[in-house]
Amino acid sequence: MNKLQTLESKLGKNRIKTGFPLSSITTYRVGGPAEYFFQAITTEELIKAIEIAKFLDLKLTLLGGGSNVLISDKGLKGLVIRNESNNITIYKRIGKINHGKLNTQEVILEVDAGVLMNRLVRYTCDNGLKGLEYHLGLPGSVGGAIYNNSKWTKPLTYIGDSLSEAILVNNEGKLKKVDINYFKFAYDFSILQKTHESIISIFFHLTQEDPKILWQRANDVMKYRQLTQPMGVKSAGCVFKNIYIADAMRIGTPNHTLSAGYLIDQTGLKNFSIGGAKFSDKHANFIINTNNAVASDIYALIKEAQERVFHKFKVKIEPEIMLLGEFN
Ligand SMILES: Cc1cc2nc3c(=O)[nH]c(=O)nc-3n(C[C@H](O)[C@H](O)[C@H](O)COP(=O)(O)OP(=O)(O)OC[C@H]3O[C@@H](n4cnc5c(N)ncnc54)[C@H](O)[C@@H]3O)c2cc1C
Repeated sequence: MNKLQTLESKLGKNRIKTGFPLSSITTYRVGGPAEYFFQAITTEELIKAIEIAKFLDLKLTLLGGGSNVLISDKGLKGLVIRNESNNITIYKRIGKINHGKLNTQEVILEVDAGVLMNRLVRYTCDNGLKGLEYHLGLPGSVGGAIYNNSKWTKPLTYIGDSLSEAILVNNEGKLKKVDINYFKFAYDFSILQKTHESIISIFFHLTQEDPKILWQRANDVMKYRQLTQPMGVKSAGCVFKNIYIADAMRIGTPNHTLSAGYLIDQTGLKNFSIGGAKFSDKHANFIINTNNAVASDIYALIKEAQERVFHKFKVKIEPEIMLLGEFN
């Protein structure tokens, strides 16, 4: 059996696509073909697909919403899995028994890594569960958010703050349960960026709160997003990470802002375009695909910004988005 036949024998006839255009599943709408592509609908399918990729020694790329990646125009070798696992389950209720009735104060939710963040946030707000409400409007999946410890800045809140445990598949294809300390969460960082393990599901520890208060917070976030970010465009959000405080102080940025967008703006790149991609005029840290851009247009803008910012401020700005595949 060749690799395609083996994949199909384990994952199902006609479930593997070859040469699948990854541009169709990234928010930039760029990216070349996947050698093999599989949509995992359940965690069982996801685990099986990871196991078989390891067995066949295929390079594995796991994607959620494709909202934090720039995939090369040359595409990706090996197996690309789009995680669409979709379950949210109440794992445990914690509270006090009062007159024989449980008065729930805390809830542990088990959430598949493929669940969309927006669905999860809406679910928690509707059910009066505090901890994730500031992440309304965060595109992509829960797994992608954990991988990069996605955040909201007003107030500063990280997705990792509410995690209690998670189930991962390690590089030997074995399942393991880990707790929050394992992730070494930091700004735009979780240990998964080094271990390359896959998240299967996450346990969030949330406390009871009035749904009205939670929706108020979530809606305030959405208003702020609408005010400050380009909406309804093809982008991957902020392209570069914040700069270090020491650099901000040395340069004397206004109010010591750490915003890479501020530095990019100062180099005159707002609205600057290459090919079909340009820096947004609303938020200089957003690159948008305005006119049938390809990944190399976006990559060229990234390089341009890095060079100009280094030339002017002697600061190396680092991409927040993940560059997948070959770029030169
Ligand atoms: C309009 C817009 C606004 C945004 N706003 C924010 C914001 O406010 N804050 C913020 O932090 N980010 C923001 N982003 C960036 C992005 O949405 C987040 O980083 C998001 O959490 C990525 O999730 P995803 O599922 O799309 O990840 P993907 O892009 O699919 O993947 C990103 C990385 O995570 C890895 N990954 C995905 N799933 C798993 C898994 N199950 N196990 C292990 N690794 C996995 C992938 O391999 C890849 O390396 C924004 C993006 C857009 C387009």
